[in-house]
Amino acid sequence: FFIALEGGDGAGKSTQAEALADWIRSKGHEVVVTREPGATPVGKRLRSILLDVSSAGLSHRAEALLYAADRAEHVDTVVRPALERGAVVISDRYIDSSVAYQGAGRDLSPTEIARINRWATNGLVPHLTVLLDVSPDVARERFTEAPDRLESEPAEFHARVRSGFLTLAAADPGRYLVVDAGQEPEAVTTVVRHHLDQMLP
Ligand code: C5P
Repeated sequence: FFIALEGGDGAGKSTQAEALADWIRSKGHEVVVTREPGATPVGKRLRSILLDVSSAGLSHRAEALLYAADRAEHVDTVVRPALERGAVVISDRYIDSSVAYQGAGRDLSPTEIARINRWATNGLVPHLTVLLDVSPDVARERFTEAPDRLESEPAEFHARVRSGFLTLAAADPGRYLVVDAGQEPEAVTTVVRHHLDQMLP
């Protein structure tokens, strides 16, 4: 069973990933918590290229392909093997992040971004995508470390990313759960648990 957690920076994805993993493990499942970009050895190198401020001015198409390359390696070496042995996989970010950031956020076609990522992942689609939706202003208050290259983008960029995510969710309501991530983390976890309770094998 494959769950993707999506949302802007500061939405609380990694906190929710851990909380959900604890709960799913308590039901007796093996759970693999993973993330993009950077879950594999090659992915870590790609992540440092993508997020280093010295990559300012990176071509938008090159950026899109590097995220897709990270994802291809992640799916082939981590996600599919875990799913094949019956584990529940929780990924902090997946294809929708690319459609929202490199598509809606930049000037590239969201349809083309979705297409290269379908190829990169050989068509692997999550059973459930949880969109942690939060306003960029609330999210920014949660940053504790120095901003990376993407977090330094202007507010309009983050607003386009947010609406990119919401557009994806509206187009496929059966696969998405949209949660108001401005709430307390415990309240967010409760909403997601309630939804997953009906779905998990
Ligand atoms: O979620 P995490 O903080 O690990 O993401 C790293 C950075 O990469 C974030 O600043 C995020 O905005 C950016 N990102 C992106 N496009 C993606 C995935 C992440 O710009 N497809």
